[in-house]
Amino acid sequence: MPDCIFCDIIAGTAPSRQVYADDDVIAFLDIRPVKRGHTLVVPRNHSRGLTDLAPGDGEKVFAAGQRVGVAMRDALDADGVNLVVNDGRAAMQTVFHTHLHVIPRHRGDKLSFAKSLVVRRDPNPDETAERLRRALKG
Ligand code: 5GP
Ligand code: ZN
Repeated sequence: MPDCIFCDIIAGTAPSRQVYADDDVIAFLDIRPVKRGHTLVVPRNHSRGLTDLAPGDGEKVFAAGQRVGVAMRDALDADGVNLVVNDGRAAMQTVFHTHLHVIPRHRGDKLSFAKSLVVRRDPNPDETAERLRRALKG
């Protein structure tokens, strides 16, 4: 297995703020969120990207992303959600373990979204994670 930070997070040897887990995927807060609550859904099986991702794992990742996205409406008052996969360096993939970004959006957030693309920081990620965990349990 290549050196992989997401495999380390899955194995529990690297820290993360986990918000959801099942037998096939885990979801945790992005360490540099473009919006508060920005979450990554990651299949437990390692693959680099769409080329070697098992289609069944893709289905499970999307299903979990859907759950997390819906929970953001409750937990973070999101009005919308972006689900994004960056596949390949040309698409700005930087971590080569397939993952789905789940990004909450709010009406009229265009300007603050552009700003947070640069700042990428949540002042209270523990509280954000707890809110999402609670909404995902309910
Ligand atoms: P990509 O550009 O590959 O689609 O996105 C990778 C994402 O992983 C980035 O948004 C980056 O902030 C996030 N990331 C990189 N390393 C870590 C880490 O160690 N922990 C967490 N939680 N997120 C990470
Ligand atoms: Zn991996």
